[in-house]
Formats: sequence, structure tokens, C-alpha cells
Amino acid sequence: MTSEIGFDFLFLRPPSPSHIYPTIRKFVQSVITRFVTFVFRPTFMKTIAVLTSGGDSPGMNACLRAVVRTAIHEGLNVYGVRYGYDGLMNGDFLKMDARSVANIIHRGGTILKTARSKKFLTLEGRQQAKEQLEKFGIEGVVAIGGDGTFRGAVALSEICTIPFVGCPGTIDNDLVGTDFTIGYDTAINTVIEAVDKIRDTAESHNRLFIVEVMGRDAGLIALYSGIGSGAEGILIPETKNDLEVLLARLGERQREKHSRIIIVAEGDEAGGAFAVEKAVKEKFPEFDIRVSILGHIQRGGSPTCMERVNASRMGYAAVGALLSGKSHVMIGIVDRKIKFTPFKDAIKHLEEPDPLLMKMVDILAR
Ligand code: ATP
Repeated sequence: MTSEIGFDFLFLRPPSPSHIYPTIRKFVQSVITRFVTFVFRPTFMKTIAVLTSGGDSPGMNACLRAVVRTAIHEGLNVYGVRYGYDGLMNGDFLKMDARSVANIIHRGGTILKTARSKKFLTLEGRQQAKEQLEKFGIEGVVAIGGDGTFRGAVALSEICTIPFVGCPGTIDNDLVGTDFTIGYDTAINTVIEAVDKIRDTAESHNRLFIVEVMGRDAGLIALYSGIGSGAEGILIPETKNDLEVLLARLGERQREKHSRIIIVAEGDEAGGAFAVEKAVKEKFPEFDIRVSILGHIQRGGSPTCMERVNASRMGYAAVGALLSGKSHVMIGIVDRKIKFTPFKDAIKHLEEPDPLLMKMVDILAR
């Protein structure tokens, strides 16, 4: 509280009204909010549900554990919904207790299972989900998933007033309102571990490797893992002429390099790793080129420490958000602080990554 009121205000400077009034008003508002939440909360929320949806990502389990244990700490009943929105429609609900999430913080995937549900895209499917939520007496839902999951929650809100709070569980890091999504840090570490191994063989044979990584619409996995593995080129969907730029650069830099790594996001407009191989081979027939598509290993594995901490913070904050009456917001972490972003803003597509990063890739790949 000292930091909110301000040390200098208390002791060092004579207070000016313009300084004091907003601070006092903020303080009084915060006391009233806490009081009202404490007194009235048990009368309006007793049971919540939690689900994981869309593509699985490492750290979902850590988030789930935080949601379940925080809810129990707050005296709530918690149901885990299996198989994402499919389970919501089919009533696949499990009563959770503190022990049901024991020994999962270090495990990849999701113990609740996940799904991509076609039926939930229909009004009939969402009506079915609403009926199941009412049948189980659910008064709030924590949805752990990506942009599609939050779009689904928005669509459901047209016919159902039960509040949803989202935790960004996706390896793509493509949501607005958080610096990192749950799964991204582990995925990029998985990629660089694989690329380090590929580089050993590339170096031994003087080869150029084209490595395809996940990212249908967003190139952040490619960008960060490319920088982290010292790639010579990084091709991402957000930039439109990166193949031409890369071919020009390879021509300029035909020198004594023993290994070359090019990272391609699967959704790059050049058409994926094999299309890039064809283009490079046509221009430089003398290059010894190999392609490696990393695929689903990028989704699996034990979450990194950063992932587990972020996921735990987000799960903890999600229950608090439901209890304080928030609805249809995504929990994020921006500049190390918890931030709430409305679903409709969180799912907007990110713009082109910082051009300075792309410039840096070029400079560092010499
Ligand atoms: P990832 O980023 O890992 O792909 P995601 O949450 O974006 O995760 P999606 O498969 O896109 O994964 O979305 C999860 C589910 O949300 C879909 O299978 C679908 O059931 C539901 N969903 C997505 N978009 C909508 C929408 N516009 N209306 C209703 N439901 C939707």
C-alpha cells in the first residue's frame, strides 16, 4: 500500500491536491471493491469449470493445477471438462480435488485432453453446451486455449451469460495482451535443441539445412528459435518477400561457411520447407541441401521453468478474475504484471514482428 500512496507524498513533499485526490480515490475504491467482493462473493459463485481446448501446449497442466487448487482454496467446487468444447457439449465433466492435479506440473500435454470441435461451431452445438453448463450448476468457466478457443467463448456468450475467463494456452504466441503464451517458451526451446543437433551434421558435411517449424499464421516460433539457433535466414508468414531477400543474401555470401540453417514457418507464403529447397536448389545447384520438418515434437515435452511459473500465475489470476466479476477476458502477463484483455481484442492478429529483429538476423548471420 505504501507504494500506491507514495513514500514521497507521506514524508518528503508538501502534498498538492492534484497529487492526493486521485490517490485517495483509488485507495478508497480498492477498499470498497475488496469489501464488496469478500462479503457478496459466496452468494453468487460456488461452482466453476475448467477446460483445455484447441492444440495442446506444454504448461497447460501447470495452469490447470493452479486453477483447481486456487478454486479449492477459495471454497469453490471445480469440474474439469474433458476434451475441450466437445466435452462441454457431451457433459464430460469430472469433479476435481487438490489431489486430482498432483504430480502434473512438469508434464506436457493436458490431463484433461483436448479437441478441435466442429460441432461447437454450430448454434446447435453451443446450445447443447449451454444446457450442460446449467445442468452441472456451473457459474464460471476458465478456458485454457488459443484464439479459436476464445472465439468459441465469444460465440457462446451470444446465448449464454455464464462468464468465461481465458488463459492463453498455445505454442504460437499469437495473442494480443500477453508477452508469452503458455507453451511458447518450451516450444522454442525444443526447436533450438533440435536445430543444435542438426547443425552438428550440417557442419560435418558442409550442408545447408532447411528446417520447417510450426506456425500456420504466426511466425514467432520461427523468429525466436531462428535467432536463438543462429539461423542464416528466417521465413515467416508476416513478411511477404523474405524468400527473395534470402536468395539474394545467399548469393552475396557464398563464402567459407561450413553450415547454414534456414528456419521456415509452415505457413510462410513461399510454401514450406520443400518449396524453399526447390527455389534454393534452382539458384544454387552446387549447394548440398537437406530438409527437416520438426512437426509435433514442438508441442510435447516437459514445460520449462518459465512456462510453469507463467502458467501458474495465469491460472491463479483466472480464478481471482472470475471471483471479482470479470468476464470474457484473457489473462496475460505484460512486463511481468498480470493484465486482462477482452477476448475480442486478444484474438486480433498480431502485426508484423519488430522489423529491427529481422534486420538483426541479417547482421548476425554474417
Ligand atoms: P491453437 O492456437 O493451439 O490452434 P486454438 O484454441 O486456437 O488453439 P482452435 O482449434 O482454433 O484452437 O479452436 C478451438 C475450438 O474452438 C475449435 O475446435 C472450435 O470448436 C472452437 N471455435 C473456434 N472458432 C470458433 C468460432 N468462431 N465459433 C465457435 N467456436 C469456435
